[in-house]
Amino acid sequence: MRNEGIGSWPARRARKTPHRTALIHGDTTLTYADLYERTTRLAHALRAAGMRRGDRIAYLGPNHPSYLETMFAAGTLGAVFVPLNTRLAGPEIAYQLTDSGAKALVYGPSHAGLVAGLPGNTDVRTYVEVGAEYEALLAGAENEPIDQPVTPDDTCIIMYTSGTTGRPKGAMLTHGNLTWNAVNVLIDHDLIADERALVSAPLFHTAGLNMLTLPVLLKGGTCVLVEAFDPAATFDLIEQHRITFMFGVPTMFDQVARHERWDGADLSSLRILTCGGSPVPTPMIAKYQERGLTFLQGYGMTEAAPGTLFLDAEHAVSKAGSAGVPHFFSDVKVVRPDMAPVDVGETGEVVVRGPHVMPGYWGLPEETAASFTDGWFRTGDAARIDEDGYAFIVDRIKDMIISGGENIYPAEIEDQLLAHPDIVECAVIGVPDEKWGEVPRAVVVPREGSSVDPDEVLASLAGRLAKYKIPKSVVLADELPRTASGKLLKARVRMRFGNS
Ligand code: ATP
Ligand code: MG
Repeated sequence: MRNEGIGSWPARRARKTPHRTALIHGDTTLTYADLYERTTRLAHALRAAGMRRGDRIAYLGPNHPSYLETMFAAGTLGAVFVPLNTRLAGPEIAYQLTDSGAKALVYGPSHAGLVAGLPGNTDVRTYVEVGAEYEALLAGAENEPIDQPVTPDDTCIIMYTSGTTGRPKGAMLTHGNLTWNAVNVLIDHDLIADERALVSAPLFHTAGLNMLTLPVLLKGGTCVLVEAFDPAATFDLIEQHRITFMFGVPTMFDQVARHERWDGADLSSLRILTCGGSPVPTPMIAKYQERGLTFLQGYGMTEAAPGTLFLDAEHAVSKAGSAGVPHFFSDVKVVRPDMAPVDVGETGEVVVRGPHVMPGYWGLPEETAASFTDGWFRTGDAARIDEDGYAFIVDRIKDMIISGGENIYPAEIEDQLLAHPDIVECAVIGVPDEKWGEVPRAVVVPREGSSVDPDEVLASLAGRLAKYKIPKSVVLADELPRTASGKLLKARVRMRFGNS
């Protein structure tokens, strides 16, 4: 096989484990042999439509087998896969299509309306709707193996960052980047061939695709694809499919733990629960531990494909709250602005280097240059290292509040607020203050049916946080603005709750 990229994975798996189940979606079950055949047929159809090595092929829709088939088909041709965020509005999708120069777009029926309304001036010439049109395309295509050379350095995917701090940037991830990340996840999670993963995180996001799906498919396990995360359905799926592996952002696991079915559910099949993507509140870790379920923690970012730091099962309790140590094939430092490593306990910026780190952003040479120093990718995240070398992610440097010359990281205050029994969500932002420059303000969402008294909340923090970190005001909110993957949109919180 001259394809050394991930487009060859279905063929390699079909050679080794053709009859094992690769994907489950609703009533559909696909073996690795099925996945290989469908991928090959789709690659032929896309090639017949003019797609060649290096061309971009986009996908817009919820989690579905066709998602992965399109990615593997693109990889079979040496083309570049562009997964699009399903929550974006028409003009934002049009921007990413134009930005990536996609020539083909495969989309789910749920997005047919949006696609019909797209402007005609993008480069997209081929549209395929998942369902009857997609199946007819496959049925009419050849099933001969495609022998297109692809190297690990070829770009596999342009994946947009979550857009938490600004406009999403397209990270170019090579076949090598994705492979090394999958190897890191396999090694550090101890994945086995009998793994059954619940993929309810969206596949357009790096966690759903790269932390869960690709490593499990590389090992020959099964992925259960779910179109949208729903806590009640999560309990059903875990029991029905005897799920062993879940990965999610903290809000997902939090909703599960707060659900009325939490107490009665059979969660005995779960072996690996990994949480990442945003700061992981310690009260939630404790809640799972009370049930004998251990959280592993992953820290990473789209640009690093994403696995960077990882807290394994052996240290999950003794180092609870830490994001762990670098993945096997990853190098991580916490540095001062001059790139010198920090001392134990001192806060600095996380930088990362390794075979899983992107070569750069698509079409953004200046942003790419600004993101690397001496070959290290600058994450923009603040962290501390303890005496054993374990990293504790503090927060994003951009979200830091400077009050009277002291640096305050909101995540630390949020962690304490979430320990309050009547607070389900919260965000701490800086607001202007004549005396201190900036002071912290807490925006809190009370538990349904309960009332939260701002003075009582502030009193509950006394003694647990240094005085300058205690918010000067508390604002109540019904909900907080989040990205599709559940991340807090701090800029929007500041806009909405930062005045008055
Ligand atoms: P954008 O780069 O567009 O602003 P984003 O940084 O949220 O969006 P992602 O690549 O999805 O896009 O997220 C990576 C970021 O998520 C990290 O840089 C970090 O700030 C945060 N993060 C990831 N894992 C953890 C974790 N375990 N603890 C704390 N923060 C985390
Ligand atoms: Mg980022």
